[in-house]
Amino acid sequence: MTANSSDEQSKSSLLARLGIRLAINASGNYSDLGGSRYSPHVLAEIAAVNRNFLRMHELLEKSGRHIANLFHAENAHITPGVAAALMLGTAACMVKADPTKSEQLPDTTGLKSEVLIQSGHRQMFDHQVRMSGARLLEVGSPAGVSKDLFEGAFSERTAMVLHPAHLDGKNGTLSLDEVSKIARRHDVPVFVDAAFMSKVPENMPTFLDRGGDLVAFSAKYFGGPNAGGFVMGRGDLISVISKIHFTQYEDGHLKFGRPLKMDRQTVVAVVTALEDWLGTDHNARLSRYRRLATELKRKLQGAPGVVLSPMYFANYETFVPEPVNCLLIEIDQAIAAKSAAEVVKGLETGSPSIIAVLDGSRLAVVMDVISDEELNVVADKLQELLGVPRNRSRADA
Ligand SMILES: *Cc1c(COP(=O)(O)O)cnc(C)c1O
Repeated sequence: MTANSSDEQSKSSLLARLGIRLAINASGNYSDLGGSRYSPHVLAEIAAVNRNFLRMHELLEKSGRHIANLFHAENAHITPGVAAALMLGTAACMVKADPTKSEQLPDTTGLKSEVLIQSGHRQMFDHQVRMSGARLLEVGSPAGVSKDLFEGAFSERTAMVLHPAHLDGKNGTLSLDEVSKIARRHDVPVFVDAAFMSKVPENMPTFLDRGGDLVAFSAKYFGGPNAGGFVMGRGDLISVISKIHFTQYEDGHLKFGRPLKMDRQTVVAVVTALEDWLGTDHNARLSRYRRLATELKRKLQGAPGVVLSPMYFANYETFVPEPVNCLLIEIDQAIAAKSAAEVVKGLETGSPSIIAVLDGSRLAVVMDVISDEELNVVADKLQELLGVPRNRSRADA
């Protein structure tokens, strides 16, 4: 307890000296807000590995095999996040016949260097594919793509297909099952960006079953490092990824992945957070979010011009009904004291700063990484900003 509070003090004094504004995260796992919060267990494992040196190559190989076993994958490799996995995976698909060719990247002369993506699947992280030197070839239109058109896009130059799992099944797009069947006929690997699919752990191995050759997950979504994650799948491709990452300088001095270097503490944190996440009672986790959303709704009842709905904030910035993880607050500006933008701004500029999600005339308080105490602070501030009648909130409290 004493050690803890003096820890807190030294931390806050550094942050204070730097002039950092501390924030309550009512948005969820965002890289810009720091990703996730380490559990005491993860922190203990980080402290333990900090005491000793080891061989990074061995740590990466054995941790990768361990993760692969958890999902019955052929193999896996820890990376500093999904963006890094995309860069390494694309490079691996281009040089799989001869990993020493990675030394010429991003010059792709003589290599298969096109990555196919359906138009409706473009998203901000596909940029990382191009960092390897590959060219993204968009197929179809945002309205959709037929199987024939997609198949016609394959050529001698095709190195990989990129398929974002969160956009799978989107109107007009081909599903992962359809895409991987076509890609297999052309002997082209399919990379599935499943960054936040760990939210439903049972789904994690399904992307391999459905034909994904490489499937990547971001540790920021399962309580691991903001710059952590892993890619799992085909053994031959994982082997190339491990060769062109940053450790095997003795094996042909492959340097491609050096900017994606990791420390042992990060690797250990990814594995520990993942094991804990798989061992979590997710029904209890979700019940807690529902309880918090219901409590907040009760405290905000009576605010004029406001509709309060417990909802699910999906990580790709859409709201669906289930399973509840947030309170969606819709504001009728003709009646309410403030617009949604003004409320979010009021939360942001308060002390402590509270970072909620703004979506047009709606705002959301997301429960994924908030503590019960923090939510009380959010509730008080929202009562004030939304003009909840005082007697009402007292009577309810
Ligand atoms: C966060 C995210 C990424 C990037 O993952 P990092 O681990 O932060 O590099 C890629 N794709 C999607 C869909 C994401 O949400």
